[in-house]
Amino acid sequence: MSDTGSGERIERFRAARASVLERISAACRRAGRDPATVTIVAVSKTVPPDAIRDAVAAGLDVLGENRVQEAAAKIPLIAGARWHLVGPLQSNKARRAIELFDVVESVDSVALAERIDRLAREVRPGIRYPILLQVNVDADPAKAGLAPAELEAAALRIAGFETLELRGLMTIGRLVIEPEAARPTFRRLREVSTGLRDAGLPVGPELSMGMTDDFEVAVEEGATMVRVGRALFGERHHPD
Ligand SMILES: *Cc1c(COP(=O)(O)O)cnc(C)c1O
Repeated sequence: MSDTGSGERIERFRAARASVLERISAACRRAGRDPATVTIVAVSKTVPPDAIRDAVAAGLDVLGENRVQEAAAKIPLIAGARWHLVGPLQSNKARRAIELFDVVESVDSVALAERIDRLAREVRPGIRYPILLQVNVDADPAKAGLAPAELEAAALRIAGFETLELRGLMTIGRLVIEPEAARPTFRRLREVSTGLRDAGLPVGPELSMGMTDDFEVAVEEGATMVRVGRALFGERHHPD
């Protein structure tokens, strides 16, 4: 976004948010869902803090970042938002991540969950710290995440980690030309999630799936969180 006055920028964020919300509502109508069950996680990676502040003022108050180091430089400067970590977390940054973020969406191993459980007890005493498990639905070697077949055992282990609350599952769709091509991935994540709960496993119903190019398809398939960057903040100038 260009450097215009803050008021004008807030208006632009309001319009972008309204447009994404309208697209979510339309997808919900097609799927017979209540739009109030879908949260926009505004992915603000590469966006400077002053612009993020305006986004929060425009109502985008659930934000996502994919790097702990970048987030550490920005989050303390921005009030009034909740923060989700959506990128890979190295175990040596877990403590900092728990300090900064309200939710870690990208937990991709039981070992990482165990570490967050232990650290959250110190860093966030008195709460059950919310996580999602990242699932590599398409077995893409370039992507992190547990295989669907590993989830049952992982959920059972995590159930024993008393400081954690396993709110649900997250996936990153495959890179596709047509949004429709991402549908099988999202549908599979929903089916896997339902299957786990039907089997009595303590996995919450949150489904974080869908980004700028495919969030409507994700909502049609049951997304409760869509992680949207470019449709709100514009194209990123730097590769992330
Ligand atoms: C960058 C990113 C997003 C948002 O991507 P857009 O295409 O800009 O909407 C969502 N999820 C993750 C994990 C990301 O890294």
